Amino acid sequence: MLLQLKFQNLRLIRKFLRIELFFLLPLILINCSSIPIFSSNCNFPDQSLEPGGIVNSNKSEIDVDILAIDYIECGVGKRQRIIAPISYNYDKKAFKALGLEILDKRFRNSYISITENKFNQISEKDLIRIDRERNIYIRALEREYSAANLEFPLLNPSNGIISSEYGVKRFINNVQRNPHLGLDIAANIGEPVYASADGIVLLSDEFFYKGNFVLLGHGNNFKTSYSHLNESFVTENEIVKKGQLIGLVGKSGRVTGPHLHFEVIFLNKKLNPELFIQ
Ligand SMILES: [Zn+2]
Repeated sequence: MLLQLKFQNLRLIRKFLRIELFFLLPLILINCSSIPIFSSNCNFPDQSLEPGGIVNSNKSEIDVDILAIDYIECGVGKRQRIIAPISYNYDKKAFKALGLEILDKRFRNSYISITENKFNQISEKDLIRIDRERNIYIRALEREYSAANLEFPLLNPSNGIISSEYGVKRFINNVQRNPHLGLDIAANIGEPVYASADGIVLLSDEFFYKGNFVLLGHGNNFKTSYSHLNESFVTENEIVKKGQLIGLVGKSGRVTGPHLHFEVIFLNKKLNPELFIQ
């Protein structure tokens, strides 16, 4: 009898929890999406209010509705700061509502014509590969590394000449492509490529577009990536130090000549590397 009562009670409790969860889950989810990411390490670069830059502002100076943008909160008490990426396609209204005027920067156009078939035709098989690789990349981006003590400025990853800067609007055979959201450093095949900061290897693999590719996680939601390498010297989950040789400049993937395509990613937004490197 006592046992039966206990079972009945358990059933009631389970039923109650199911009903409660049904109503509470949407609220819990809404709340989760607006919980700010907090970082104890408040070492970020100075503010650069332009597409590809960051907000680095005292929390008391930010006006309203901070939840409209992605950001990190760091520091304590009166020294609390808000750090937020300003993406290439930033939401003008959201930043204006915070009292932040973002520089309306004009990026140059770049026109190239390519006749080679390999650049103009993508097979069914390649499309499947591209899709699979996109998922691998997105999953790696979701990983966060908390052990690194990220320091700025980042190290320039390769000695070469900047051949294409961040934000360039690209037209290939007069068809507009995605804007260039990295920094191209043209160098000879075999020139060294160094890790820009301490971190962990999130990906080291060969990709259709990116060629031999390395993605590093540096903590504080900062990541850097290195594309078109001739060779990579690191493997997934390896810990790397700032300045460590991680690969060599190459022309692997979809490129017309040897160069390093370098990206800086903060809170999943691709930022202007030139604002973060020495
Ligand atoms: Zn590039």
